[in-house]
Amino acid sequence: MKTKNGKVYIVGAGPGDPELISVKALKTLKKADCVLYDFLSSPALLKHVKKGAKKICVGKTDGLHLKEQDEINTLLYENSCRYRYVVRLKGGDPFVFSRGFEEARYLSEKGVKFEVIPGITSAIAGPESFGIPLTVKNKIQYFAVLTGRKEDPGAEIDAPDCPTLVYLMGVANIRNIVKALRKSGRPDATPCAFIERATTKLARIVKATIGTIVKETANQQVKPPAVLIVGEVVNYAKT
Ligand code: SAH
Repeated sequence: MKTKNGKVYIVGAGPGDPELISVKALKTLKKADCVLYDFLSSPALLKHVKKGAKKICVGKTDGLHLKEQDEINTLLYENSCRYRYVVRLKGGDPFVFSRGFEEARYLSEKGVKFEVIPGITSAIAGPESFGIPLTVKNKIQYFAVLTGRKEDPGAEIDAPDCPTLVYLMGVANIRNIVKALRKSGRPDATPCAFIERATTKLARIVKATIGTIVKETANQQVKPPAVLIVGEVVNYAKT
């Protein structure tokens, strides 16, 4: 369908289980004429895309960018001129460490209509899928979601004073995360855990402490995508 008035839907695919996508997101995916998707999105979701629709893998995942952000922005713009319904499908929630906001801003500058459809973020679903709450009534009243990897590799990792910390993109940089956690005054006995491939058949939890997590990550060959949870809440993990 050719039109100059296409709309781009920036859609959260959820953390991995293809059933953890919202009804609205799925409806939008089904009517899409063009879908630009990441590696992180569950590939099973693509079977909902209608026949004849264009599918473009722009492949953003830890350390591997199939296409640069500028190129993705251009593709979004070009396809919005060509198609009526364009879906930008992103793993988890599109505004949580996913450049969804940057894409929205770019589209807005270009005068392209867009809508954001939230998704379930791995930052919450990951811990939750192993029974770990990020808050506990009257006990643990707030949490922080942080990046475990900064663009400048020399930049210090944040470790704010907060009872529960959830690091995304932290596997390769676990040493520097531990350095930051120690610097923040947290004892080595503080529980932490990596949750790998949450909500998929390959999901697993690797429990440790701040003192042992570097060794455990290597021994158990933790691989991305994985979220790191730090704090007492890890003790609630189901075994
Ligand atoms: N927008 C995504 C995050 C993108 S950043 C969201 O809201 O979930 C990519 C990071 O997300 C990965 O490095 C990893 O830390 C985390 N992640 C994404 N999917 C995951 C999964 N199924 N299990 C564990 N971590 C995941």
